Amino acid sequence: MVSEENTSKAEKAPEVSERHQQRMQKLKEKVDARIEAAQEDKGLLLVLTGNGKGKSTSGFGMVARAVGHGLTAAVIQFIKGGWECGERNLLQNAGVEFHVMDTGFTWETQDKAKDTEAAQRVWKEAKHLLSDESVDVVMLDEITYMLTYQYLDLDAVLDVIAQRPPHQHVIVTGRACHRHLIEMADTVSEVNNTKHAFDNGIKAQKGIDW
Ligand code: ATP
Ligand code: MG
Repeated sequence: MVSEENTSKAEKAPEVSERHQQRMQKLKEKVDARIEAAQEDKGLLLVLTGNGKGKSTSGFGMVARAVGHGLTAAVIQFIKGGWECGERNLLQNAGVEFHVMDTGFTWETQDKAKDTEAAQRVWKEAKHLLSDESVDVVMLDEITYMLTYQYLDLDAVLDVIAQRPPHQHVIVTGRACHRHLIEMADTVSEVNNTKHAFDNGIKAQKGIDW
């Protein structure tokens, strides 16, 4: 049996549905207008920073997305060498060029001269890619630390990024991104650390953390 309350709800339903339709129509007009207004095509500088998990995986996601559309992409990995990397295994097979600094973490090498030399060596590869018209996407994974520790000169990095081919997208990842790089970027996402399994003594998981 239909209760009185339910009957009155059912009677209101067409009205509710009409109001919803009108609201959605207004929203659609707004979204369509914004899409219409966004006409520019340009190589983007994207920054993924913050203390939460998901910066490099997001960058690799965009590289995979680009490659899926037939674009050319290359990845420079600052810091993490020696480590297996699931995305590298996959994307190298899909034709993505990788250059890895290969010194391990700064707090492991504890050798500033060696780290600086390694950063400079891999930055040379990055500079080639950032001047190569045939490369559509360049990911500079963990480059923010190179700037924090001054293994690379900030102005030199900003200059090379600014002078890159106009259609080329650049993805920067790493914590504590320098504000000048953030100012220069078109899209900046800060991933916050709400919680992380590691804090509860759970070790890094293959396929999730590397
Ligand atoms: P991912 O590569 O998983 O996207 P990320 O690039 O955001 O992570 P990094 O600072 O580069 O983060 O750290 C890489 C490794 O450290 C990953 O194994 C990741 O799970 C782990 N990690 C990231 N954020 C945290 C955190 N807040 N606490 C502990 N471990 C973290
Ligand atoms: Mg990372």
